[in-house]
Amino acid sequence: MASFRILHMYPELMNLYGDRGNLLCLQKRIEWYGHRCIIEKQGLDNRTDFASVDMVFMGGGSDREQGLVYRDLLEKAATLLEHIENGLPVLCICGAYQLLGNSYIDFDGRSMSGLAFFPFYTRAGSKRLIGNVIISSQINGIDETVVGFENHGGRTYFEDPFLKPFGRVIKGFGNNGEDGSEGIVYKNLIGTYLHGPLLPKNPGVADFFIEAMFARQGLKMEKYLDDSIENTAHQQVINKIMNSK
Ligand code: GLN
Repeated sequence: MASFRILHMYPELMNLYGDRGNLLCLQKRIEWYGHRCIIEKQGLDNRTDFASVDMVFMGGGSDREQGLVYRDLLEKAATLLEHIENGLPVLCICGAYQLLGNSYIDFDGRSMSGLAFFPFYTRAGSKRLIGNVIISSQINGIDETVVGFENHGGRTYFEDPFLKPFGRVIKGFGNNGEDGSEGIVYKNLIGTYLHGPLLPKNPGVADFFIEAMFARQGLKMEKYLDDSIENTAHQQVINKIMNSK
């Protein structure tokens, strides 16, 4: 039996719309696969040892919370980026995703530099982009739908055509409501606007991270879980969204 540790960064500040449910989903699925998983919380100013964890998670947060965590995150940025380049699985939702870019300009025009991990910027618009979302994603090498809920004022624009979106929007707004992209994927990192929480209704995305965590400990996914309930929930969300006006 292997043990896995998932780091939840800034749980008191960055955790909107049930994003913490993503951690419960990963923990439960890892246990169903026959291994142990503990969730470690890390607040502001805590020392962070990314080498000792198997995955990092950051949830969504309002502009104010983003500002509070930004300075702390900046101090950890170089080490975090090094681990991302080495394949550390990372899931960043909404506000946390926005901070990975070059800048975030809030609705009052205040500009916050991002961590500059990726060449994209986010600018808040007057109308919030709110609603259920369906995207088509290929993170597992096949086309699969991913469902979620978005609520963000920020519009994210890629500044490099080689950046890969997490998926293409089928229904909803995505990164900016204009270019059909949603989120970003880079190695084992996913940034996305999809709250929900994302993972329980998208078992393929949950297993994307679990497979990466297993591989980094030299383990293979010998079996796959019975996801009939998860897939029914997923399909119900699709039916609901596609039948809504
Ligand atoms: N404050 C950011 C925005 O409104 C992110 C919000 C969120 O994390 N849901 O765009």
